[in-house]
Amino acid sequence: MTTSIDAMFAERFRRVRSAMAETQTEVLLLSVGADLPWLSGYYAMPLERLTMLAVPVDGTPTMFVPRLEVPRVVERPDLFRIVGWDESDDPVRLVAEAVGGAKKVAIGDQTWSRFLVDLMAELPQASWSRASSVMSPLRAVKDEAEIAGLRLAAEAVDRIAAELQSGDIPLIGRTEADVSAELVRRIVAEGHSQANFAIVAAGENAASPHHTPGNRVIGPDEVVLCDFGGTFPTDSGLGYCSDITRCVYTGEVDPNFAQMYEVLQHAQAEAVVAATVGTPAENVDGVARDLIDQGGYEGLFIHRIGHGIGVEAHEDPYLVAGNATPLVAGNAFSIEPGIYVPNEFGARIEDIVVATSSGPMALNVANHDLVVVEA
Ligand code: ZN
Ligand code: ZN
Ligand code: ZN
Repeated sequence: MTTSIDAMFAERFRRVRSAMAETQTEVLLLSVGADLPWLSGYYAMPLERLTMLAVPVDGTPTMFVPRLEVPRVVERPDLFRIVGWDESDDPVRLVAEAVGGAKKVAIGDQTWSRFLVDLMAELPQASWSRASSVMSPLRAVKDEAEIAGLRLAAEAVDRIAAELQSGDIPLIGRTEADVSAELVRRIVAEGHSQANFAIVAAGENAASPHHTPGNRVIGPDEVVLCDFGGTFPTDSGLGYCSDITRCVYTGEVDPNFAQMYEVLQHAQAEAVVAATVGTPAENVDGVARDLIDQGGYEGLFIHRIGHGIGVEAHEDPYLVAGNATPLVAGNAFSIEPGIYVPNEFGARIEDIVVATSSGPMALNVANHDLVVVEA
């Protein structure tokens, strides 16, 4: 029986093959990383034993899987055959035989280099490219089921953000690490299969965008920046990611911080409005950056404004100066400007947004204001 999920994967194989033909790619090799599950539904274990799907531009794809992991593979015999290799087999040799005399081979960007190095030795005639050249443009355009998955994930973290803002999550007197652990528990309790990260940065630590939560105790009258997300399971077997940042304040707000936050909040909102179909990705970054510069914080927004999101927490398209690729309907990405004043404080506001033919659609709707919590 063919289900709508099988049909979805079949359509992906069809699109991948047509992209291979366009890029003159003869064989595509996918191992660990998100391309393999996105295409086949199978998450390879990131272990020393090789899992590799070999997709020829014509002919039957083969998934080489360690024999002991074959029971984990959802069989889709119309789409690929499965070869379980035994402990005494040489899986690199098996893949090389499948590649045969092909000259143009694309390999997954996150494949262990040990396998690539060995494959290069086995296949001296082949020239190599990254699988992302084939896969990323396809994965960057989400279909309705994917957007539905991203929405479920966004709604789950929005509920946690609301709990943070309502004071349900105690802050004062706890360490950043303790609050981070609670966010991780809530991410799973809200339906994610796993938490991917939970940054909690208090006061001066909020000036470090990827701060590691530690033993610093959260005090009164300071900012607490929380940036968290996880992977949300969907019917297809694939997980879609959430990612949100909100800042709360534990008491009387420093007027300098309030002024900075106002500039940031305006910049973030204007960048969301600017993320329309046809707009070059870098222009979305530019809109927020100009407002932050004009607001008196030039040079303090020290990262790009956003990243694509889907089965991976960070994927194409990247909204960054230098990426002039216009947004297309179905692109899903974060919009997360920040302002960071070293040794003092920092703030960031992050939503996931989808570009649609009727305008930018923010999936996160948790309150964007600077909420004071007495907790
Ligand atoms: Zn980040
Ligand atoms: Zn984030
Ligand atoms: Zn992000």
